[in-house]
Amino acid sequence: MDFNSFNIKVVKFGGSSLADAEHFRKVGEIIHSDPTRLFVVPSAPGKRFSGDTKVTDMLYECYNVASAGGGIEDLFARIRERYDSIIRDLGLALDLSEEYTHIKWAIGHSAGRDYAASRGEYLNGLVLAHYLGYDFIDPARYVRFFDNGTFDSETTNNLLSEELKKHENGVIPGFYGSMPNGTIKTFSRGGSDVTGSIVARAASADLYENWTDVSGFLMADPRIVDNPQGISFITYRELRELSYMGAGVLHEDAIFPVRFAGIPINIRNTNAPEDPGTIILSHTDAYDPKNIITGIAGKKGFCVITIEKAMMNAEKGFGRKVLEAIEKENISFEHLPSGIDTMSVVLNRAEIAESRERIINRICASVEPDAISVEEGLALIAVVGRGMVKSKGTAVRVFKAVAAAGINIRMIDQGSSELNIIIGVDENDFEAAMRAIYAEFVSDRGANNG
Ligand code: ASP
Repeated sequence: MDFNSFNIKVVKFGGSSLADAEHFRKVGEIIHSDPTRLFVVPSAPGKRFSGDTKVTDMLYECYNVASAGGGIEDLFARIRERYDSIIRDLGLALDLSEEYTHIKWAIGHSAGRDYAASRGEYLNGLVLAHYLGYDFIDPARYVRFFDNGTFDSETTNNLLSEELKKHENGVIPGFYGSMPNGTIKTFSRGGSDVTGSIVARAASADLYENWTDVSGFLMADPRIVDNPQGISFITYRELRELSYMGAGVLHEDAIFPVRFAGIPINIRNTNAPEDPGTIILSHTDAYDPKNIITGIAGKKGFCVITIEKAMMNAEKGFGRKVLEAIEKENISFEHLPSGIDTMSVVLNRAEIAESRERIINRICASVEPDAISVEEGLALIAVVGRGMVKSKGTAVRVFKAVAAAGINIRMIDQGSSELNIIIGVDENDFEAAMRAIYAEFVSDRGANNG
């Protein structure tokens, strides 16, 4: 794949990449160094240092204070200063006073929570468009939601693709769009990633670059595994399987528009633009035979309900009834390993804290099990790799590595896609198990050699 032959790239910059003038300069250099970076999606200014407050959080605070009848003068002045300091430090001839006056007035006159939050991206978009000399395109006119608040992808794609054709380049603020009645509506937190993906689809881009403050995904959590290798390529499905790990780097909903359009996403680091980052693709058959594992991710905080009943497999509707009991408490399940006469349901412990007894009672009433038990303190580890299906013995290597570390495996679930193996271990063994698996598959080849 020749990534230099692309002719349209959509580039999204996260809040930490646009937190101050110094970062704006880095962003400007990145954009101007590649003439195919035509459409730019900014977040609102993020934290400049630990302990700093994101502009979006300050805007939510403004909204809260205003709706409780308080004054927002001081708070709003601080928001204003975030932008004015960027404008000043960059030496731009841009005066946003009228915008500030209008926004402050609107927040003070019940303009709505989403409207308030969206102004972070709106103002940052105005500054960035001015700095780059790009057109400003307001997503309020093109990114649309249905009356029930869900995203209207087709109307958006039609409106936005028509509009983008009229511009040689443009800055489209992330995070918001509008409802059929014209009021502003935002995506959930981190939603500028979603806007970037929507713009990439509408622009028929060849690549969606998502610039953040890390050089892509790592094969394992660096807080657990020392200096893990970066992932060069990952498929959307693998990423879903590793979602415990991806959390925080990319908004989950950002995958759908580009996946639909077959556009790869490249996660890049604004502070290390020379790093190639991670490319997320629809599919690739290619894998490095030495790299059977794409990544390892895991999480603590699960519990397993195990239901035993003789001849369970012959009883029609057994599984449905068990799952219905859980659904009735509005809980979703994580995994469903089963045997001939046993069925286990893995659930998030925090989610069932309050409904646990009711779930057990419902299951007992509807399937009359011979025995039912709940085991606490389970951690799940997902070992994921598109190469696993083609190479023998991967599961054995996982089990051996964990056993050699003296750890007991409490649950095994090989995903039906043969893309993953999930094991459950005691929470106390979680970190040691992660390290053992990583060492078995990766660390002998040295860190960061891709
Ligand atoms: N500024 C918004 C937030 O803080 C959206 C984003 O950054 O993607 O959640």
